[in-house]
Amino acid sequence: MTKAAVIGAGIGGIAASIRLAVKGFDVTVFEANETFGGKMQEFWLGKYRFDAGPSLFTMPHLVDELFTLAGRNPSDYFTYTRLDPITHYFWADGSHVKAYANGDKFAAEVNQQLGVPEQAVMDALAKSAQLYKGTADTFLHKSLHRLDTYINPDVLKALSCLSDLGLTTTMHQENAKQFSDHRFVQLLDRFATYNGSDPYQAPGTLNIIPHLEHNIGAFYPDGGIYAIAASLVKLAEELGVTFKYNEAVKQILTSGKSVTGLETSQAKYKADVVVSNMDVVPTYRRLLPNQKAPEKTLQQPRSSSALIFYWGIKRTFPELHVHNIFFSQDYKTEFEHIFKHKSISPDPTVYINITSKADPQEAPAGSENWFVMVNVPHNQGQDWEQLTADTRQAVLQKLNKMLKTDIAPLIEEERVLDPILIESKTSSFGGALYGSSSNNRMAAFLRHPNFSNKLKGLYFCGGSVHPGGGIPLCLLSAKIVGELAPAVHHVVNTPKH
Ligand code: FAD
Repeated sequence: MTKAAVIGAGIGGIAASIRLAVKGFDVTVFEANETFGGKMQEFWLGKYRFDAGPSLFTMPHLVDELFTLAGRNPSDYFTYTRLDPITHYFWADGSHVKAYANGDKFAAEVNQQLGVPEQAVMDALAKSAQLYKGTADTFLHKSLHRLDTYINPDVLKALSCLSDLGLTTTMHQENAKQFSDHRFVQLLDRFATYNGSDPYQAPGTLNIIPHLEHNIGAFYPDGGIYAIAASLVKLAEELGVTFKYNEAVKQILTSGKSVTGLETSQAKYKADVVVSNMDVVPTYRRLLPNQKAPEKTLQQPRSSSALIFYWGIKRTFPELHVHNIFFSQDYKTEFEHIFKHKSISPDPTVYINITSKADPQEAPAGSENWFVMVNVPHNQGQDWEQLTADTRQAVLQKLNKMLKTDIAPLIEEERVLDPILIESKTSSFGGALYGSSSNNRMAAFLRHPNFSNKLKGLYFCGGSVHPGGGIPLCLLSAKIVGELAPAVHHVVNTPKH
């Protein structure tokens, strides 16, 4: 049977293993950690459950698709609920917007709270949908690095109207052009952080992101975000995929211009196809030391990282929901701190995710599990101990003021995650959350392709390669790898359930 080896059991690696197994490969996934999930972990602090990494789940059909592809009924494995409202937004001037899932209701709320005309809000959501329609097929669903992509007339059409797609302006310019209310512009600009970018530099094309959240929807998986990885590993194992944990890959083995297998901490394995779900920078630096690395690609600026305080809070806050944002007063300066000064603003925007709002079992009665996150630069040798202490203080001061409550005495459990820990746990270069940033209008083209053009049989998936980071894009990277991998004559039996 044709063998495939996958390096890493992050969401991209798990999805790639399923796609290759369905295609007929004999698949083994090698994972350095003791379990699957990569950035998508869960843990308990006392009686509080936390998702360690991702908290916002969009495009659930990309998960369902994997079960359907394998002949299963998705809801036998994985269920989720659409969130409404999606997010509660708070500003220092006391204004507060509930982002309802229904577009008309959201527009009415923005009009009532911020005075922005309803039609303008609806137009922005429609424009986002339009942008998605114009770009997704070209920029997300296909490899940008193969000639056959460009032979497609739809792609040529998309590329011929780049200015309409916002590739020549920044996200902020586009939003500020449409709205005079700085709070609503800030709300729209924040979507740049969904792939670790800066709205004052990232191209207007990223204004497709609100479409995913507002028009398609934001969802909460039953069992938390971790359930996505857990249910997909269950499926992969049913399809015959072998997971080898605590087995770090040390080298990708090659002969001439082809991969032949890999060497792990424990043994050498033969493979016809190798898929790296490890960040592309350490893949080249550590696993392919004798191959010429694509330096321009590897040196693209990294995305932002995160500083997270996981707090067990012994009180409930009815004014909060699953996703909550407490905005900074000067967004431009906040991003300059992150991307220019490699530091953290003393007035950071604070995101609080409270999954016990969706599932009360995730915190003790009368309490809430707060995942408190601030966007920060990736690790470049900063003094993280000092930055963490200063930021904790700034976050508490801000929340005390905006929630009119002294928060520190309510914290009964605490853990912290910083960029150094993110890197050490997942090998993500610099602890960047989404590989390279999209702060450059050519960023989409400069991400590493999903295949090697030097070594036959070598593929790449996950957040550091095309089409980018975040759960949906990692799933799409695995889909592209599945499509690019060679056909296998033996086809696995995929029973209908
Ligand atoms: P990773 O999760 O990076 O996993 C890679 C795996 O490879 C790891 O398990 C690692 O141990 C393993 N590995 C590495 N090197 C080796 C080796 N040599 N041998 C064997 N195994 C190896 N996305 C969203 O969609 N929504 C969000 O709200 C969101 N928020 C986030 C918040 C945080 C704090 C973080 C950290 C990320 C967030 N993301 C979010 C991004 C999302 O989590 C990632 O894009 C996605 O999970 C990355 O998956 P991946 O496939 O790239 O693999």
